[in-house]
Amino acid sequence: MTQIYDRVALIGLGLIASSMSHAMRRAGLAGEIVGYAKSSETRQTAREIGLCDVVYDTAAEAVEGADLVVLCVPVGAMDAVAAEIGPVLMAGATVSDVGSVKRAVVEAVAPHIPEGVHFIPAHPLAGTEHSGPRSGFAELFENRYCIIVPPEGADRTAVDRLAALWRGMGALIEEMDAEHHDLVLAVTSHTPHLIAYTMVGVADDLSRVTDSEVIKFSAAGFRDFTRIAASDPVMWRDVFLNNKEATLEILGRFTEELFALQRAIRQGDGDHLHAYFTRTRSIRRGIIEAGQDTDAPNFGRASVKKQ
Ligand code: NAP
Repeated sequence: MTQIYDRVALIGLGLIASSMSHAMRRAGLAGEIVGYAKSSETRQTAREIGLCDVVYDTAAEAVEGADLVVLCVPVGAMDAVAAEIGPVLMAGATVSDVGSVKRAVVEAVAPHIPEGVHFIPAHPLAGTEHSGPRSGFAELFENRYCIIVPPEGADRTAVDRLAALWRGMGALIEEMDAEHHDLVLAVTSHTPHLIAYTMVGVADDLSRVTDSEVIKFSAAGFRDFTRIAASDPVMWRDVFLNNKEATLEILGRFTEELFALQRAIRQGDGDHLHAYFTRTRSIRRGIIEAGQDTDAPNFGRASVKKQ
């Protein structure tokens, strides 16, 4: 693979940044990878495991001379980070991000980007419930979509160069505007996370079912909810605070559907339930056919040994 950027600065060194570092190194996409994270503990860990060529103690030092800067911090931290690095960005450089919300990030970051620097937001649709500099792995983005959100009038060469980097890390590329991105993600990621958080919270509150029963008899549906509900609390707090409108819109629709299903159960309307579940089953088939999940039993997990 050919080198695409000379010096890539990763600001924030968690799951996404560490996976990017491994994936870029594996494919030889960057001449040099440097980084910065807020806490000295994370910077120390990153140094110990050799995550970057150099880990700096400030974001401003890290971005100096970088032709690509990627903001890999929680959405709520983007504004402050962009304000700090704005004045020291190299002319002709590209600033991108990996935030799960796009309109709020564009509003927070764009005002700090000086003339002559390209700002091209992006969002890789890949993640796990783990966080921190040790959680990354090179394969995270393979066959996963990375949505690029070029602002109006963005430089085509700079957009294509960023797309080439993501393709080199194994991702599939799609472009859309920030509003549409936020609505699509509210449906496919943000609201499902909120529902998972709620269901795990309900099980936790239900005192007639003990904690040990919840864990011992954890069936596939609930177990999958707990995995999602174990995701990083800071990241998800910021997602909901910053994708308010789209999430509330989808939640409103969700609540209406839930009431309709509740009524069907109360009235014994099996036809309604059957028709509904038949429709939803075909969505699952579509996801598998698009190569975005496996149809292996139990989501392809190795079976758990019987006690
Ligand atoms: P993470 O593992 O929790 O890492 C976040 C990193 O950001 C940490 O290194 C943290 O440093 C650093 N950070 C926090 N505030 C900072 C600040 N003010 N200045 C500098 N660094 C700061 O998070 P992640 O999962 O990689 O997520 C990063 C971004 O990717 C988020 O915007 C998230 O929305 C997006 N994203 C996440 C996923 C996912 O599933 N996880 C998927 C796609 C996109 P310390 O460790 O020192 O606190």
